[in-house]
Amino acid sequence: MDFCSILGFLNIIARLLGWWQRVQSINSSILENIMKKLNAYKTLAVEFLNALLPVEKLKIRLRVQDKLDQIDGGLSYGKLLSELGLSYIATCDSSSSKLLKGKKFEFSTLGLYLAPASKSGRNVCSFAGACKAPCLDESGHVLLEKRSGKSTIRVARLLKTWLHEFRLDLFNKAICHEIKKEAKLAKKKGQSFCVRLNCTSDLDFSEVIASFPEIQFYDYTKDPNRQSMDNYHLTYSWDSFSKGRLPFYKQAIARGQKVAFPVVKADLERILALPSTLEMDSSDLRFLDGEGSYGILAIKETGNTQQGIRDGFMLDYDSFKKAIAWIEG
Ligand code: SF4
Repeated sequence: MDFCSILGFLNIIARLLGWWQRVQSINSSILENIMKKLNAYKTLAVEFLNALLPVEKLKIRLRVQDKLDQIDGGLSYGKLLSELGLSYIATCDSSSSKLLKGKKFEFSTLGLYLAPASKSGRNVCSFAGACKAPCLDESGHVLLEKRSGKSTIRVARLLKTWLHEFRLDLFNKAICHEIKKEAKLAKKKGQSFCVRLNCTSDLDFSEVIASFPEIQFYDYTKDPNRQSMDNYHLTYSWDSFSKGRLPFYKQAIARGQKVAFPVVKADLERILALPSTLEMDSSDLRFLDGEGSYGILAIKETGNTQQGIRDGFMLDYDSFKKAIAWIEG
């Protein structure tokens, strides 16, 4: 390479560096502007989402815990939400079109969405396996937000999950307040009312559920030890062909619980024509399900759908038949 070529090459490198610095400075000023509009909790949540190293995430969690520890336990529901910058903890017939489908059956459904698996730094889905990557929390509005570089929904879910982890007293007070409020509202509208607390988690809410014996709760779970109650309906969830899970699928069937399977849309009709299947897409009101042991849910696209299929979480016709033969064998 002659002297002129070397100079030319260095010139290109210098230009690229200048361009990269400009991009970095634009990025940091965008982030600065976002931060200015957020309260301290949301700022921490954004920092947590952007942190790459586990140690950074851990430090942020400790700061969140410290801040939450300082909240007075007697704070009213309204003041708690305003302190956290949230509009609600759980919401009725929310963004999830699945919960909204209950309206056709005159049901109003209160749903709670947390940050699933270990996304908050604490695992709220102890029995999650192959479902983690294609988890439905990354579908719908969250997927759209993520693609457009936003994080409003993920930030709110993080805050709620941290509240549950670090201040269960305040969390339970707030969720009970909302259950009472929404049950009253549904009654006023002449609608039936139900609650799903694990829309994107798999936690034990039995204390809250037991305190509302007149209200119908339901969940999908992968926890083989979760107990149903008179007012708590459980559907067991398929995860994968992992050997250790086989006794749990068998146990669910023996208990009379249905097992829910996510299947690829193209094979939906054929799968539903198989014996003992029932469709679970027309509503999310699982406690109203009729006959059949194997609930069929058409998969929603998430950022990791293909991985879900590869890992055996999402099934096509042949793999569904294989799963049933395995469970019944
Ligand atoms: S258990 Fe449910 S909420 Fe948790 S990671 Fe799996 S699919 Fe998502």
